[in-house]
Amino acid sequence: MRRKGDLPTKVCAHCGKPFAWRKKWARDWDTVLYCSDRCRREASAERARRGRA
Ligand SMILES: [Zn+2]
Repeated sequence: MRRKGDLPTKVCAHCGKPFAWRKKWARDWDTVLYCSDRCRREASAERARRGRA
């Protein structure tokens, strides 16, 4: 399953699309959930909208 040169990938928790490792995530790849800032923003906005405490 491991090929030389292949970057690790994850599936975006918001849009469900797979995305590949990027250098800007080198430090916190383990905690990255979304493919982009936009998805992260939309996901947290959605959560805020839904979560009426
Ligand atoms: Zn996404």
